Amino acid sequence: MTERNEQRHKERQQKLKQTVDAKVAAADTDKGLLLVLTGNGKGKSTAGFGTVLRAVGHGLNCQVAQFIKGQWDCGERNVLEKLGVPFAVMRTGFTWNTQDRQADTEAAQRVWNEIKPAFSDPSVNLILLDELTYMLSYDYLDLDEVIAAIENRPPQQHVVITGRACHRRIIELADTVSEVRPTKHAFEAGIKAQKGVDW
Ligand code: ATP
Ligand code: MG
Repeated sequence: MTERNEQRHKERQQKLKQTVDAKVAAADTDKGLLLVLTGNGKGKSTAGFGTVLRAVGHGLNCQVAQFIKGQWDCGERNVLEKLGVPFAVMRTGFTWNTQDRQADTEAAQRVWNEIKPAFSDPSVNLILLDELTYMLSYDYLDLDEVIAAIENRPPQQHVVITGRACHRRIIELADTVSEVRPTKHAFEAGIKAQKGVDW
């Protein structure tokens, strides 16, 4: 790098630091966040579980609800349950190919009823609702009830929701929303889901 370039780089970095410092100083509110990880790309559930892991690493108390009956065992569950994170999971009902609306609704309700008390328990610091969005699009769960639970939760409690096509009312309510876009996916090239990467 020439001296001139180096000087320019330094000035740019200084400016950037000033902007970031000002933003950090302005962000002075502490509050439980609602995070939504949505979109058609890969990485929503991994990011949701990554957040749980991060929270557990800081000694926070977390709970997980999984709204799709897994075809395979779940790597994150295998680890997180050992660390004392309770999972509410579907034992029967909703998979991608189910056609039994009644059974699916019951399965979704069971998981919801299992996780619901966490929303009135201030000792729970973070709740992950993995693949919740589908339960709302299919009307398996009542949107108003889910929104009420989120709105009335303890003020410091964090909630993470994953799944495609998230309902706009949840997007509006959320503090942070990330949409994952599929630039490429191995599946499209005929590669099957890989243990340790896809589940
Ligand atoms: P992951 O659990 O890997 O973070 P995800 O939660 O973003 O993925 P889901 O919509 O829940 O994605 O899909 C679950 C499964 O489908 C995963 O095995 C994932 O690899 C796969 N998948 C995700 N996105 C795509 C895509 N665009 N095309 C094909 N398969 C996908
Ligand atoms: Mg997922």
